[in-house]
Amino acid sequence: MQTPVFLDHLPDIDTVAGQKPVQYRLARNKALLELMLDNSINWQTRSSCPACGANCASSRSFSQTLLEFQNCTNCNTIYAARTPDQATLDQSRLAQTPDADDRAFEFTSLLNWVSLTEARLERPLDRVLDIRFATLAPGFPEATKRLSHNRSWSFLPLTPDSDDFTALGEEVAKLAPKAVLLPAELDRVADPAALLRTLKGAVAPGTVFFVASSCADGLEYEILGADSPSFVPLDRLTVFSIKGFETLVKRLGFKALEVSTPGRRDAVILERYFNSAENSDIPFWSSFFREADKNRLRDLQILLQRSLKSGVLRFVLET
Ligand SMILES: [Zn+2]
Repeated sequence: MQTPVFLDHLPDIDTVAGQKPVQYRLARNKALLELMLDNSINWQTRSSCPACGANCASSRSFSQTLLEFQNCTNCNTIYAARTPDQATLDQSRLAQTPDADDRAFEFTSLLNWVSLTEARLERPLDRVLDIRFATLAPGFPEATKRLSHNRSWSFLPLTPDSDDFTALGEEVAKLAPKAVLLPAELDRVADPAALLRTLKGAVAPGTVFFVASSCADGLEYEILGADSPSFVPLDRLTVFSIKGFETLVKRLGFKALEVSTPGRRDAVILERYFNSAENSDIPFWSSFFREADKNRLRDLQILLQRSLKSGVLRFVLET
C-alpha cells in the first residue's frame, strides 16, 4: 500500500483558532445540547467500536460537551457512546448557515489526489461523484467548473436520510460514478459502516473511493485529546485511527490502495496551545513548542505526515 507525503505550507492559525471557527464550534455545541434536551429524539447506544468491532467494555471513556465518548483500547478509534438517528443529525446540519467560502484551495488538493491516483492506476477516473452535506457545498460547484477540465465532477448534496442511507444509495446507482469522493462525512454520520456499505452496494466493482476523515492517531489528539480545538463533538462522532479504519474497510470488502495523513494543522494548533494561558506542562513538548520557529513547526508537520501521525487521514479504496 502507498503512503505518500504532501509537502505543503503551514496554515494560518486563524483557520483553527480565529473568530469564525470559534463561532462555528459554539453553534455546533448549542445544536448538540438542543438534541440532548429534546425528549422525542431516539439515541442509539453503541455497544462496540464502530471501526474494529471490539467491545466497548475495554475502552476508556471521557466526556466532552456532556456527550460521552469512548477511546478504543484495541485500535485507538475515538467514538461517541451514543448517537441520534441519521435523519435527526442531517436535520441539525440543515439548520446550519451555509459556508460560502471559495473552496478553490480545497478542490485543487482533491483534484491533485484524484489525478495522481489515476496516473498510478492507469485507469481513467473521469466521472467523479463528490458526496457531502449541502451546507458544505456553496462555493464548490463554481471551483469544479473552473478547474476540473475534462473530468465530470458531479456533486451530490446529502439530504435527511434513513439510518441505512437508502435514498443516497438510489441516487448514486443512477449516476454510476467511476470515483466516489467522501471528503467530510464519515466522522459525522451515526453509522459510518452503513454509509460505506450502501455506497459499495450502489457502484460497479472496480470503483475507486477517496475518503478523508479526522485521525485519532494525530499528535494533536494524542496530546490534547478532547481539548483539541478540532474536536467539535457533533462533527466527531467517530474519529478513526488508521488501524481501525483499515479493519473496517477490509471487513466491508474494500481493497485499500493507499493511506496517508496529509493533515496540516497539528503543529500550529499545538504551538498555539503551549503558548496560551491554559496550557499544562508536558515533558519535552512544552519547551519544544514554546521555542519553536516556523521552520521547526514545518519540519514537525512533515515528520507527522511521513509517520502517519497527523490529525487527518486519507484512504484510497477500491470496490
Ligand atoms: Zn476499535
